[in-house]
Amino acid sequence: MNYFEFKDNELFAENISVTELAHEYGTPLYVYSAATLRRHFDAFDSAFSGLEHLTCFSVKANSNLSVLKLLAEKGAGMDIVSGGELYRALKAGVPSDRIVYSGVGKKAYEIAEALKADILMFNVESVGELHRINEVAGSMGKKARISFRINPDVDPKTHPYISTGMKKNKFGLEIENAFEAYKTAKDLPNVDPVGMDCHIGSQLTEIAPFLEALEKLLKFNQRLKDIGINISTLDLGGGLGITYDEEEPPHPKEFGEALTKALKDQGLKVILEPGRVIAGNSGILVTEVVYTKKSPTKNFLIVDAGMNDLIRPSLYGSYHRLEEVVKKGRPEIECDVVGPICESGDFIARDRNLPEMEQGELLAAYSAGAYGFTMASNYNSRPRAAEVIVDGDDVIVARRRESYEDLVNLEC
Ligand SMILES: *Cc1c(COP(=O)(O)O)cnc(C)c1O
Repeated sequence: MNYFEFKDNELFAENISVTELAHEYGTPLYVYSAATLRRHFDAFDSAFSGLEHLTCFSVKANSNLSVLKLLAEKGAGMDIVSGGELYRALKAGVPSDRIVYSGVGKKAYEIAEALKADILMFNVESVGELHRINEVAGSMGKKARISFRINPDVDPKTHPYISTGMKKNKFGLEIENAFEAYKTAKDLPNVDPVGMDCHIGSQLTEIAPFLEALEKLLKFNQRLKDIGINISTLDLGGGLGITYDEEEPPHPKEFGEALTKALKDQGLKVILEPGRVIAGNSGILVTEVVYTKKSPTKNFLIVDAGMNDLIRPSLYGSYHRLEEVVKKGRPEIECDVVGPICESGDFIARDRNLPEMEQGELLAAYSAGAYGFTMASNYNSRPRAAEVIVDGDDVIVARRRESYEDLVNLEC
């Protein structure tokens, strides 16, 4: 459920007309709904009310400072994967004891920054990283709280690029290697193994793989207890899917109930790292039709949003629902919706049925609030789009549109 709705055939973001937003702020334009972000956070967080828990929003899904601040004000923690994301989270006012740090390639300076901020914990993904954290913490006179990210080898049944918890993936530690790593950590002076972690993939549409991973982790916890390692937190990562097209992922409530049942009486504090399920359907990308073109075999809608603005269709073949911002009741034709970038892989949709639109009209790409702007680039020297947040009757410019000057500012 979100707050992008048609009133008299015209798309609104909460109380504001999307056409007006496009006129005021230009296109391509990311539009987020504050009420939707809050609603999605509440739905997710309250699903775990039966457990001691912390919901850490995955910053890489949508790292805009205003979005992070809005969520932090609701009590969200953050899951970060870089020093840059730590900087953003702190700048947005997220308390450091609500920050967890994941990622396979943390550098020493990033570890030092996180230790200085005194974050809640590191999700450690290799033995090399364990020793690096131990060294850096030692040099700072600190003890680092750590979890190991365990690769439970379960198939999340999602796109291979966003599947992370199978043997062949680069993430985390295989379960026997993890066992050895805990033993090593126990004897290191500057780390404190306080938790277990896993994150098996993204856009999961079933609960079963989560339960399968959880079962493996709980068994593993028993083995840790047997050797005198008593952990207090279990981080189950993110990954709950959303509806882009016709997927029917479990509702967060159902997801929370299933995990709560499996975790009752385990005495573990639970950390969750949702990204897409909070932000995905809280945002749209508004784009203008620049030209239409017909070839003997294809109809093209050439729009002003390219793969540099929204790369998911090009990268994963992802589906984003598209709709005219003003509905005019015209018959549909099959077309490719393509951007201005000089790549054949630059498309928002292929072979899509859409009303026969004309140049100058606006098109909305739904489900663009997660992995949309955060994956944007300046390819083809295109300034990145603006981001606005609608909150009832109010609009804030969460990030202004980049200028040509911004493009070259760091060059000499
Ligand atoms: C990307 C990521 C998440 C968030 O995944 P979603 O599918 O957006 O919920 C959580 N944890 C880690 C470690 C990640 O890399």
